[in-house]
Amino acid sequence: MIPEKRQKQILAWVKQHGSVRIAFLKEELGVSEMTIYRDIQKLIQDEEIERVPGGVKYLQPSVQSRQCGVCFQESFSVQAAQLMHADGSMAHFCCPHCLLMFMAHHGSEEEQVIGRDFLRGTTMNARLGIFLIGADECLHCCAPQVLLFQHQAQAVKFQAGFGGELYDFSQAVTAVASAMSCCTPDPGQN
Ligand SMILES: [Zn+2]
Ligand SMILES: [Zn+2]
Repeated sequence: MIPEKRQKQILAWVKQHGSVRIAFLKEELGVSEMTIYRDIQKLIQDEEIERVPGGVKYLQPSVQSRQCGVCFQESFSVQAAQLMHADGSMAHFCCPHCLLMFMAHHGSEEEQVIGRDFLRGTTMNARLGIFLIGADECLHCCAPQVLLFQHQAQAVKFQAGFGGELYDFSQAVTAVASAMSCCTPDPGQN
């Protein structure tokens, strides 16, 4: 059997069972353990499976097929945000703009809202963040651009250099919603 065919077969078993043991693969395919390791190495590189003690496990493709919950684009900025519903399910957003748009139309007090500090990239509770709307373009995502900061002092400094207006979470939700209702977004934005 050629390596590609073996790897396909291994992946099919892993998908079917969730995980399989190296000993099982060795026996079923009738090849050496070295060969099995070479095959699974390829699948691990492709992020199809991952190693577990004594075997391999299927890697859920959820991260790869992620889409923004508002504008449906698949490219995410460095400021990607998430929202966790009360039942534990997640929604993903390309940037804080779409997060705020979602909150304006479907948000409640119950969701956990996770954003990233613009300067350090650390995850944070977006409800406690400072939002800078309309500063000089740097995210190349949705318009009007929204940046999220963890610390007020840093947001103020950034605003001094790059313009825009500062808002807290609930003010920012209102500001983005009203900006979007009075003008249609530029179709060239993507
Ligand atoms: Zn979006
Ligand atoms: Zn965006």
